[in-house]
Amino acid sequence: MRVSEYMEQAELFKGVVALIEDANTIAICAHTSPDGDAIGSGLALAEVIRTAWPGKRVTNLLADKDPVPRIYRFLPGSDTFVHAVDYDVTPDLFICVDLSQMSRLADAEKICARAHHVAVLDHHPSGERFWEAGVVRPDAAATGVIISEFCLHSSRVLTPTIAQNLLCAIVTDTGRFQYQNADSEAFETASMLVEAGASPAEVALNVYQSDRLAYVHLAARVLARIQTFAEGRIAYSFATAEDIANAGVTLDELDGLIDLVRCIEGTKVALFLKEVDGGKVRGNLRSKCNLDVSGIAREMGGGGHRAAAGFTASGTVDEVRAIVLPKLCALFDDSAAPSSALTADVRGASR
Ligand code: 5GP
Ligand code: MN
Repeated sequence: MRVSEYMEQAELFKGVVALIEDANTIAICAHTSPDGDAIGSGLALAEVIRTAWPGKRVTNLLADKDPVPRIYRFLPGSDTFVHAVDYDVTPDLFICVDLSQMSRLADAEKICARAHHVAVLDHHPSGERFWEAGVVRPDAAATGVIISEFCLHSSRVLTPTIAQNLLCAIVTDTGRFQYQNADSEAFETASMLVEAGASPAEVALNVYQSDRLAYVHLAARVLARIQTFAEGRIAYSFATAEDIANAGVTLDELDGLIDLVRCIEGTKVALFLKEVDGGKVRGNLRSKCNLDVSGIAREMGGGGHRAAAGFTASGTVDEVRAIVLPKLCALFDDSAAPSSALTADVRGASR
């Protein structure tokens, strides 16, 4: 970030600080189906507020009814989350982290609507503004980067537990510092967090080296059926509801499968589809180059970043694939995709 941008962000942080100072009860919530950035940033922000402003009643909320994903339960404070449906307080302040779109608050949308004040700290391209104060900076690699800077701005106390939550946020949102968003700000922030006591090895052990065997067996099936399209530029795989039920895995365990799909040499964009409850399909889209996949995610009713976006659509994996694949092909050519591009490059991939 340039100095002028730091100054601008500091001004915006002051607006958030003013709301915190005026509040007694504060609820913090991230997006539905929370990832490492959502969980880590929320927990860190709660501790920053408790440290800098003792006496405030701060609650970390989960937008959905699901528990904290298993791989993030090692994070300090992860056992303190309250499900939004069980929170009947009208908070003085509601802070959205890692989200700036009301509809992604799921069960917490009602709490946000009835809160006296709303703030946002996020790095997603945002929709209509519904908050009074906050920072929404899509060029930040993770919300964890913004919360780290908010911590330095407000409390200046970076405990080892705050640092661990924030490091997990940054490691996961940058794909272990491998995605295009892994910029110098992410590395500098991570360095500061490790200096403050965060453990990269502990994050890696829990997030990337603690898969259940049932998951690995399902992952093997997903790997075996990866297909490429458009002369190798698109990689695709999927998991059906039946696969998921047979394997006995939870949906959050499948969040890493898109990383297996994207690893194929020469692939520019990757798509992973999984059938979830209610006849819906959840899609993960990734770009390995400067092509922007967020527009396709938005067309499908979702959203996200240029290089990492997602959506939920009605139908089966085959039906949704038939809609999304031509859109991906069209990314490579402004004119309509040649029909041959929609035929798999390598046949024989089976269910
Ligand atoms: P993932 O594919 O890992 O679920 O999500 C990739 C990125 O896109 C994340 O930053 C996530 O927050 C965002 N994203 C995923 N699904 C949606 C969606 O349905 N709507 C919006 N606005 N963003 C999404
Ligand atoms: Mn994030």
